[in-house]
Amino acid sequence: MADTAQGARILIRGGRVYDHDGDVHQPATADLLVSAGRIERIAPSVDAPSGTEVIDAAGKLVVPGFVNAHYHSHDVLMKGMFEEQPFDIWTTYTGASAYGPRSHREVRIRTLIGAAEMLRNGITTVQDFLTVFPPDEAYVDTVLSAYDEAGIRVNFAIAARDRSQLDIAPLMAKDLPEAIRSRIFGGAGRTAKQELDFVAGQIKRLGMNPKPLITWALAPSAPQRCTPELLKGLAALSHEHKLPVFTHVYETRPQAAAARVQSVSLLDLLKDAGLLNERLNLVHGVWLSAGDIELLAQARARVVHNPISNLKLKSGAAPILDLHKAGVEIALGCDNYSCAETQNIFIAMRMLCLLPAITSPEPHPVSAALALRAATLTGARAVNMEGRIGALKEGMAADLMILDLNEPAFVPFNSAARQIVFSESGAAIDTVLVAGRPVVRGHKLLTVDEAKLAAEAAEISPAFRKEIEAQIKRTADLVAPLLEGNRAVWKTQLGIARYVGGPRDS
Ligand SMILES: [Zn+2]
Repeated sequence: MADTAQGARILIRGGRVYDHDGDVHQPATADLLVSAGRIERIAPSVDAPSGTEVIDAAGKLVVPGFVNAHYHSHDVLMKGMFEEQPFDIWTTYTGASAYGPRSHREVRIRTLIGAAEMLRNGITTVQDFLTVFPPDEAYVDTVLSAYDEAGIRVNFAIAARDRSQLDIAPLMAKDLPEAIRSRIFGGAGRTAKQELDFVAGQIKRLGMNPKPLITWALAPSAPQRCTPELLKGLAALSHEHKLPVFTHVYETRPQAAAARVQSVSLLDLLKDAGLLNERLNLVHGVWLSAGDIELLAQARARVVHNPISNLKLKSGAAPILDLHKAGVEIALGCDNYSCAETQNIFIAMRMLCLLPAITSPEPHPVSAALALRAATLTGARAVNMEGRIGALKEGMAADLMILDLNEPAFVPFNSAARQIVFSESGAAIDTVLVAGRPVVRGHKLLTVDEAKLAAEAAEISPAFRKEIEAQIKRTADLVAPLLEGNRAVWKTQLGIARYVGGPRDS
């Protein structure tokens, strides 16, 4: 991890320092010395060597930075454009290839907007699962430069797929008009070789650390959207470079039903390709069966839970308690702006703890302290940075936030863990460090001029909004058949319940 030589020496003095293994309710007061991007020392009292910048943290709480383990930066500018809607309709509006190539200026602005909000919300590491469209290396450079400018740590992946039909296609009526069929069942897409060459080519061109805070991951879009050749090629790359893999699996009931009617197991596809191992992160996993969960536990693969998009796209409530009981670790993500609107891990942690109530009235072990581990330590494992980020320990990277305990969420201060998870939403964040570099101070982002960025966004967004409105119009004739397809899906029995009081297997 190349986070040395970032920033000067900083002493964070007299704050409550959150320790996953200590008193998570009343963390001990300590000094924390940051040097060369890392936490050099944590002790009740640390002398500041001359030239050290001192941050007075009295009355403040120092917390590890969050890992946002699922995000797509291609549709940042769609924030606020859609109400809730089923996944299969949303995907026709928002897919990166639906509305043509973007300018480099627009790509830079959208990347910075997402990075800025994340940093302000205490997210110090993000996994960006980006569809680079068109697949042109100049866009990769623009995105990585914008992240470098913002100063956020990024585990970057280029989304890959070589099958273009919609996930629900196997369940759609076969007698649809040809103009509609062709868009649901897809046309000529990319080949496995083109996708692999592009991904491997970028890794080779830019090296394992394209920028000091940027590393790689791999991102087969979903097992059903990739041929075995593509999955195997990505597995070989993961093996060769020890790269984490993220892939969407069983996000929706139509995806699970499509697999069932075709007698396919998406986990078997991953296993056959050599991807079902501890480097694998299944994104969503709402419709995993009990057997699937067992397979994940055996493989030590994780699930990345995205509660907001799961609800906004009507995918259902993920089996949080079943995963936890089986020993499958859960990381947290915020997903796209077009289906979640905000990058806020406080909300994701809260939902992780609260959503199990809709399936079980019993007390459960998914506590606030566990949610904080999910948002930090498990996220760190997901992006292959275990032991390097996710906790405030000597020798680990200085990725942290400082929360003001005089803000409403913490008055009175009864429990750090519970008030971070159940009361706070980001408003108490005073300071954020990434690799020891202050990126937020006094609630203000230091790396990006937010007022200028807002002005630039205002300049480009009216034209962008028009393009999306045109895309919605172009797609209007797909809505009724797709809704009909969604209803027909219930004829396929799964024996899995992810809605409360809604439709059931007939
Ligand atoms: Zn996603």
